[in-house]
Amino acid sequence: DCLLEFRNIRILYDNAIEAIRDVSIAVPDGGIVALLGSNGAGKSTLLKAMSGILYTEEGVIENGSIRFRGEDVHHLGPDELVRRGIVQVPEGRRVFAALTIDENLQMGGYTRTNAEARERRDRVFALFPRLHERRDQIAGYMSGGEQQMLAIGRALMTDPALLALDEPSLGLAPLIIDRIYEVIVRLRDELKMTVLLVEQNAQRALDIADYGYILETGRVVLDGPSKKLVANE
Ligand code: ADP
Ligand code: ADP
Repeated sequence: DCLLEFRNIRILYDNAIEAIRDVSIAVPDGGIVALLGSNGAGKSTLLKAMSGILYTEEGVIENGSIRFRGEDVHHLGPDELVRRGIVQVPEGRRVFAALTIDENLQMGGYTRTNAEARERRDRVFALFPRLHERRDQIAGYMSGGEQQMLAIGRALMTDPALLALDEPSLGLAPLIIDRIYEVIVRLRDELKMTVLLVEQNAQRALDIADYGYILETGRVVLDGPSKKLVANE
């Protein structure tokens, strides 16, 4: 079954720039889907189309629908999307730099009781032992890899059904990327989460994804099961 579906989406910025031309994408429940393509292909725009913030950049969905559990969600704001189970980790590892790891995670669980927030935080610590070891350290002083783990950890505090990650490996060392990708696989396998993984590095992403879409100047130019896409390269 499809958890998320983009159907015939067309997106314009400033009434003029056609960032997404006619894109249809299906994300099955419990899978990892990779959204690939070089810089400017339209990957981030697709994520922003289901984040409630596209309008802040003068972006408009001109055509098509975005359905989550069968319901149209393109018009929903960020809080409502999170409430329904869609959470995103935008590019750039946004964390509260002046707060500790622990405090960052507590901020992510804002809609929950303290007991629930603690339970979720402990689950994040189980996934990222490195964050647990450094729980009282200030986030701003941590390495890029640790900040990326923390950004993902904060998103997990809302207990999403769908986690969308915008280039989580950008600028990180291969060993750290491995560690982050291992966690993404565990989210699918152990927590039954669905993941939409945006990456420029197709090779690596297809290593863990079940299915991939390759975008080029606002269109899907190739899609298929990861193994098939890798064989085609
Ligand atoms: P990326 O495309 O890899 O996310 P960019 O440096 O292209 O990174 O974009 C940084 C920010 O500027 C993003 O918020 C993006 O939406 C916005 N942006 C990108 N291209 C344009 C553009 N042509 N005009 C205005 N804003 C843009
Ligand atoms: P990617 O994430 O694949 O790098 P983007 O979605 O950031 O691609 O960009 C797709 C296209 O839309 C690019 O041509 C980019 O310049 C343009 N674009 C992105 N954000 C904006 C924006 N805020 N305003 C105008 N154009 C934008």
